[in-house]
Amino acid sequence: MSTNNEIVTEIFGSNVFNDSVMRERLPKETYTAVRRAIDNRQALDLDLANVIANVMKEWAIEKGATHFSHWFQPMTGLTAEKHDSFISPTSDGRVIMDFSGKELCQGEPDASSFPSGGLRATFEARGYTAWDYTSPVFIKADGTNITLYIPSAFCSYTGLALDKKTPLLRSMDALDKQASRVLRALGDKKSQHVDTTLGPEQEYFLIDRSYYEKRLDLILTGRTLFGAPPPRGQEMDDHYFGTLQERVASYMHEVNVELWRLGVSAKTQHNEVAPSQYELAPVFATVNVATDHNQLTMEILQKVAIRHGLVCLLHEKPFAAINGSGKHVNWSMSTSDGVNLLEPGKTPHDNMVFLVMLCAVIRAVDKYASILRATVATAGNDHRLGANEAPPAIISIFLGDQLTDILEQLAGGNATSSKQAEELMLGASAISSFAKDCTDRNRTSPFAFTGNKFEFRMPGSTQSTAGPSFVLNTIVADILSEIADELEAAKDTDACALSILKRIAIEHKRIIFNGDNYTNEWLAEAKKRGLPHQPNTVSSLKTITSKENVDLFARHSVLDSSELHARAEILLETYGMKINIEAKTMLSMARRQILPACVEYSSRLGCAVGNITAVGSSAEAQKTMLDRVCQLINSLNTNADILEKVLSKSDDISNLTEKAEYFQNDVVIEMDKLRKVADELETIIDAEIWPLPTYAEMLFLK
Ligand code: ADP
Ligand code: MG
Repeated sequence: MSTNNEIVTEIFGSNVFNDSVMRERLPKETYTAVRRAIDNRQALDLDLANVIANVMKEWAIEKGATHFSHWFQPMTGLTAEKHDSFISPTSDGRVIMDFSGKELCQGEPDASSFPSGGLRATFEARGYTAWDYTSPVFIKADGTNITLYIPSAFCSYTGLALDKKTPLLRSMDALDKQASRVLRALGDKKSQHVDTTLGPEQEYFLIDRSYYEKRLDLILTGRTLFGAPPPRGQEMDDHYFGTLQERVASYMHEVNVELWRLGVSAKTQHNEVAPSQYELAPVFATVNVATDHNQLTMEILQKVAIRHGLVCLLHEKPFAAINGSGKHVNWSMSTSDGVNLLEPGKTPHDNMVFLVMLCAVIRAVDKYASILRATVATAGNDHRLGANEAPPAIISIFLGDQLTDILEQLAGGNATSSKQAEELMLGASAISSFAKDCTDRNRTSPFAFTGNKFEFRMPGSTQSTAGPSFVLNTIVADILSEIADELEAAKDTDACALSILKRIAIEHKRIIFNGDNYTNEWLAEAKKRGLPHQPNTVSSLKTITSKENVDLFARHSVLDSSELHARAEILLETYGMKINIEAKTMLSMARRQILPACVEYSSRLGCAVGNITAVGSSAEAQKTMLDRVCQLINSLNTNADILEKVLSKSDDISNLTEKAEYFQNDVVIEMDKLRKVADELETIIDAEIWPLPTYAEMLFLK
């Protein structure tokens, strides 16, 4: 689908039922009513929905659509869709194309096969999808099949959230409510709403499809479960920001065009640190639209890759000992007038709104560090966090020099100055001097202030941004509600605000860390400061249902206790299932691919030893090689048997947490042992016989 001769401004949003399409096609009064409903988050009545549905249908049919689908995000972390055609039979044997307001607003898929964490018994199958009209409807072609997609929330028959979108939308309301209270108390009479904004940076790997097809581990688990380190890794630092390979650049172009059609503002693209690793970032948007767009981005990245004979790997750690992939979540708050509440301005020390918002985030992140950490607790992410490529699993905040200095001043009672950025001169007359940023970057911090937003760097590349975002929104809303309570009751608002800032600056100083988060010194220091450290998935997931968290989400009507418990259960179960699939895949590959290849090689060596000795020559080297191979074959076989035995014992454990712990502690260790032997064999077996594409081939050949 080459589009080099198409004009980007014309294709952007061409498949989206966006504001300009609505304005052009809806009757004026309908448009005004819809706009009002969206802007003020009001319900749409059925008459209005009928008018919109009809216009939407005409638009979709003109674009070739035959079907519509509610598009939702169940707890699998993926998107789900069930298509219905627009056809409606008539009595004379023909059909008309029909689409009602009810069909637009509400769907009723069978919910029984989606994870519910016990919220719903299997026989209670009914679930509902409901149109989220704050995220635009769009058209997507899959092959020649063209469908109208309706972004939707998904809940049970009793109205409990079964998806990622519902708590996200609720958390947006919570943050809007509390941030608006604070703004009003601080004298802002103008802004109507506060939105949260999100810009997710998506990392991914691309490999040639021919290699992928030969790797059962990539096909079934998304990561390599075997593979010796290649002779060359990422040590040359020559891939990061390097020139794009033509094949990759063409792929990226096609991805961009597809995304632009869908109204996704794909903006930045570049080679990442690891060989064959890349990144794509959009321009930020309101958090629920950005989350929908990130789901579409992951889908398009994978689909377009296939067309180019490539495979896009989204897993957090496709290759051991090579950098993994994250999804940096850039987050801020913005008023309906477009004012970024985390914009410090030139003199942040006297920007009271900024200081209050900043301190609210600082207190929220320190007070609720464990639940924030739990939003990134997955089997895939365990390979990244703390592995010298991503921050450790300890939450801390990077503020940089200027804001740290202001926070210190606030702790003393008042902030009276802001350190200013210097001019930078490069010493060459061809280059003009320019103003530096107020602070350097810090790549190692899990939660960094980056100029006018926070960048949460722990989320994994496969994750929906909904989880980290709804938790961030809720914890910040919670602190803003405390602050609003105090400010609203105060006689002297300014004095009250200053005393709040002072208190937060003193109480939460411990969460600020501007140094290198990758060092062991930081681990020790963080422990001294009493910062929580949940090093792995299960230890982290166990913290989700603490009383503090149950109360937090209930207080802001984001999740009730049953919904929160269900989520914790799903996450634990998912963790166990993932490890189980990985272990079974390893067993299959070890026994059906690796062992047979090694046996074949040993038998060739055996023949060589026999033949050579028979003619009276010395086969000492061949004999030594044979002994080594046989010894490793033995270990591989034994380790596979042990892994199988250990794995089968997991069936006896019924308690979900215990089961997940068993996988994490007992199964993973045996998987590592099996891999170690196989990887050693890879380095000595005849390359012609080795059944799996190597790291060097997958990472360097395209
Ligand atoms: P980096 O230099 O950290 O790699 P990128 O340019 O790749 O940065 O990505 C930064 C992301 O942050 C972009 O998606 C950008 O749109 C987003 N961003 C910028 N401002 C905001 C904001 N106010 N709120 C949320 N996201 C933002
Ligand atoms: Mg980036």
